[in-house]
Amino acid sequence: MKDRPGSAGIPEDGSTKEHISLDITGPVPEHTYHLQTVEADSAALASLHFPSLHHSHSDAPQSQTENGIAPTKSVRKQAKKSLFKNPGFPESERTRAFRRRFYPDATKEDWSDWGWQVRHRIRDLEQLSRIIKLSPDEETAVLRHRGSLPIGITPYYASLLDEINPDQPLRRTHIPVTGEYVRTPGEDPDPLGEDHDTATPGLVHRYPDRVLFLTTGFCSTYCRYCTRSRMVGETNGVYSFSVSQWEKAAQYIEAHPEIRDCLLSGGDPLSIMDDKLEWLLARLRRIKHLEFIRIGTKIPVVMPQRITKNLTRMLRKYHPLWMSIHFTHPDELTPETAEACERLADAGIPLGSQTVLLKGVNDNLETMRRLYHGLLKIRVKPYYLYQCDPVSGSSHFRTPVEKGLEIMAGLRGFTTGYANPIFVIDAPGGGGKIPLMPDYVIGRDGADLLLTNFEGGVYRYPDPEGRLGESQNYLRQQGFDHDTAGRFYTAKARN
Ligand code: SF4
Repeated sequence: MKDRPGSAGIPEDGSTKEHISLDITGPVPEHTYHLQTVEADSAALASLHFPSLHHSHSDAPQSQTENGIAPTKSVRKQAKKSLFKNPGFPESERTRAFRRRFYPDATKEDWSDWGWQVRHRIRDLEQLSRIIKLSPDEETAVLRHRGSLPIGITPYYASLLDEINPDQPLRRTHIPVTGEYVRTPGEDPDPLGEDHDTATPGLVHRYPDRVLFLTTGFCSTYCRYCTRSRMVGETNGVYSFSVSQWEKAAQYIEAHPEIRDCLLSGGDPLSIMDDKLEWLLARLRRIKHLEFIRIGTKIPVVMPQRITKNLTRMLRKYHPLWMSIHFTHPDELTPETAEACERLADAGIPLGSQTVLLKGVNDNLETMRRLYHGLLKIRVKPYYLYQCDPVSGSSHFRTPVEKGLEIMAGLRGFTTGYANPIFVIDAPGGGGKIPLMPDYVIGRDGADLLLTNFEGGVYRYPDPEGRLGESQNYLRQQGFDHDTAGRFYTAKARN
């Protein structure tokens, strides 16, 4: 999850047997809640064979006993019962039919239990082939995959994938194709230069007043165009995430009073257990100069069952808390996702969406309009539309930049302003987000600025002291003309 969609995580090595290795060996913060949290998490993780927060560098699975944690029976029981369950969470007809067909032993209660969803993620060719008729290209790509950005799809999200059609948008975003192994000029494993701007492990400090806090390398579902593909989903990889690392990051923020805004991302921060996430939020809230905390997540979209009442009850204690949710396509707007967003909004969390423009997935006006209108209906404000970052192996997803401008021109004026996101290029190498807009300035006539509106009409605005528009005048003198979004073309190009 970029400070986007792109979010402590859970290591994974591709095996279905995940293990526990809570990091309690590092310096323990004074805050006594820490140990209670780790203990409760440990119990729940142990009982469910969950992966842990810490990327172990040992191949040998560690138990909580080896870590010196011995959860009491009652803690274990309570954790087992309640931390993952989501009683009453809706199940759409489509999802129910899918569950009954592919998971006949799973009850509705299992399905709405996010622990069950994580444990039953689709991770390999065999599991995928049970549900989807893979194309030869997909099959080759799946077999060839090694390292970070593994295959990982929750059963819920799999229910939205087309069984037959490899070109279905959602399927393209989550099932690898051999295009992933093609490298083109300008691509980079770390296109935004985040590693360069890392102040302390897991904390990126690029803008003066805000930081990006990488909490985990775990996502419930892995997007094939992930900007952080280098760091997500890899057990024993070079990137590690641990509670002691979180504490060091918090100390860094504490020592920098100019930081007023912290974005929790990863991986996916909502994949972290409630108690541990609460420890982090409480730790950050103790920093007086930190005014604002944001969470970047895709979980309401790919595992909406994670949005339990316990979670929203906990989150609402840490306002002002904002959330950016990674949506890609209107097919993700299901009754389940609507419920998840409703619950978050009802907890007083302002919700914004982040979407990556992807070739063959959402690169047309109609799809984007449906997505943005649908988001407003579930109380999510379209926030950013990203030009796809040149992360290694993403050329098959990237559109020309004009495509984004064309979509923006088709939205502006034709629909409510709330449905208009900001289209940005996150500048390679760490330049930050650069907004792009169709140009509605078409020239200057003496004291008047000449503007065009969404329908192509030309309007004057009295601007006697301004100079804006002079460069457009120059273009017109050179024989260029503009389109309805103010973009200049030669007469020849237009014909
Ligand atoms: S793989 Fe994870 S971190 Fe990457 S974009 Fe998807 S949800 Fe975000």
